[in-house]
Amino acid sequence: MLFAHDTECSLVAAAALVNTGGSDGEGLPDVAALDEFFVAHAYSGRHEHTDAELEAVRELRPRLRRLWHADTDEIVAIVNGLLRENDALPQLITHDDEPYHLHAVPRDAPLAVRMAVEAAMAMADLVRSGELSRLRICDHPECDNVLVDLSKNRSRRFCDAGCGNRAAVTAYRARKAAARR
Ligand SMILES: [Zn+2]
Ligand SMILES: [Zn+2]
Repeated sequence: MLFAHDTECSLVAAAALVNTGGSDGEGLPDVAALDEFFVAHAYSGRHEHTDAELEAVRELRPRLRRLWHADTDEIVAIVNGLLRENDALPQLITHDDEPYHLHAVPRDAPLAVRMAVEAAMAMADLVRSGELSRLRICDHPECDNVLVDLSKNRSRRFCDAGCGNRAAVTAYRARKAAARR
């Protein structure tokens, strides 16, 4: 493991959240979609199942996406802003049989607030360990998804949406076409 477990989970969830707002169309079209996202990324704590909650989560995405495009100084400004605005106060806690991990806002804080602060805390780890190069954009030319490369040898190039396969098929066809010529 490169980073603490909660950091890695938060980074993966932040990337997934950003990608629900990508050019592939709205990935969080309704409250049910947010419910699914909540379960898929093992969120716990307050969850309202309301349109207002959904809207707040959607509104967070452009700011988080910016983290994948910004330079270090801008990333730091975004991270510090998210922590300050949401009154982050890191505390080690344990719940649901999980080992001690950091929460920086109470579990009954709104979902979008917890998502924002979790992402900011995880990004703070990346900044401190000089690992911002782990934040990548998918290499597929038609994909603008973001990803976090948590592989040991920094080899990850494609997002989770099947772009690795798509690229392999394209390369295979290109080789075959070249061989026929
Ligand atoms: Zn927790
Ligand atoms: Zn992709």
